[in-house]
Amino acid sequence: MSETTDPFSAPFGSLFGDRMTVAVWNDGEYRYSGQAGPFENFSLHPATHAFHYGSTCFEGLKAHRQVDGSLAIFRLDDHVARMRQSITKLRMQAPEAELLRTLIVDAVEANASFTPEPPGSLYIRPTFIGTLENIGAAAAPSDSGILFVICSPVGDYFKGGIRPLSIYVETETPRTTPQFGMIKSGANYAMALGPTLDAKRDHTVDQVLFATGGDITETGASNFFLVDDQRLITRNLDESFLHGVTRASTLTLAADMGYTVEERKVPLQELLAWAEHGEAFLSGTAAVIAPVGEIVIGDEHIELGDGRPGENTLKLRQALVDIQIGAAEDRYGWRTIVAG
Ligand SMILES: *Cc1c(COP(=O)(O)O)cnc(C)c1O
Repeated sequence: MSETTDPFSAPFGSLFGDRMTVAVWNDGEYRYSGQAGPFENFSLHPATHAFHYGSTCFEGLKAHRQVDGSLAIFRLDDHVARMRQSITKLRMQAPEAELLRTLIVDAVEANASFTPEPPGSLYIRPTFIGTLENIGAAAAPSDSGILFVICSPVGDYFKGGIRPLSIYVETETPRTTPQFGMIKSGANYAMALGPTLDAKRDHTVDQVLFATGGDITETGASNFFLVDDQRLITRNLDESFLHGVTRASTLTLAADMGYTVEERKVPLQELLAWAEHGEAFLSGTAAVIAPVGEIVIGDEHIELGDGRPGENTLKLRQALVDIQIGAAEDRYGWRTIVAG
C-alpha cells in the first residue's frame, strides 16, 4: 500500500470505503433502498437547511477485526440511541432505532474488506443533514433530510506509541452552549475551535480541557478522567457535555476491576492536587483512552507522572481494547458481530 492508501500512515479519517448507505427523510418517513450503494457525492440545493442553519449531527463508532477473524461493531445500540437523541434535540424526527441500526450494519458489511487489522479499525460515521430548501427557514427545523453512513479505515491513533498529551485548561470560554452540550453536532466543534487554536498557538498544547468557572467537564472531543491505584473519577452526567460511550465503557470496566468509581463534579483545585500522585486521561472512540502528561493553567505547567503513560491508564485502555477486538469475553453484550 502507498502512503496515501495505507490507513496506518494516512491521516485519521482521510480514507474511505467504497460503499455507503443512505436513507431519505420526507413527508414524515424515512426511506431506505435496503442496500448499500456506491460512495459518491450528493447533489444539494444551495438553500439546503444544513448549510445555513446547522441542522446536522453525526456519530462516530468503530468495527474491529476480532482475534477469531470475524468482524464486530462496538456498542452499536448506544451510538444508535445517541444519534437519535441528537436528531431529536435538533427538533427533527429521528429514524426508528431499527432503521439506523440497519443502515450502520449494512454500511459496515459492504465495506468490511477495508477493515485494517488491530490496532487499526473501520471507523463508522453516520451523519444526518436537514435538506429543507428554504433560506427563510432560520427559525424552523428542516422537515426533510438525508441520513447516511460512510466508513473510514483508520490506523492506530497513536502512531509510534502512546504519547502523553499536553492540555490547556480553559476556565472562561465554554466548549458550547448548555442546550447543545449533549448533541454530537458540527456546531460544537466549530465553537471549540477558536479556544483550541488559541491555546495551541499560545501554550503549545494538544487539546483544551473546558472547566468553565473551575468545573471540569471535557475537551473539544473527549471526556476526562482522573485515576490512581484506587479511584476513578469523572464528571457526573448532565446536559452540559457529551455522554461518551467510551466514558460509559471505562466506568463499567473500572468498577469491575475493583476501582472505586466516582461520578461527580470535579473542581479544578482537585486536579492540581491530583497531579502530585495520580494520573489523568481522555476518552473517546477515535483515541480510545489517551493519557494526559501535562496540564497548563494560565502560564503554569503541571506535570502528571513521569512523562510516560500511567499504569492505571494503560491497564484500563488494554481492558477496553481486549473487549473491542474479541480478545476478552463480551461480558456486557457490547459487540455486534456482522458479516465480513
Ligand atoms: C464524540 C465525543 C466524545 C466521545 O464520545 P465517545 O462516544 O466516547 O466517542 C466526547 N466529547 C465530545 C464533545 C464528543 O463529540
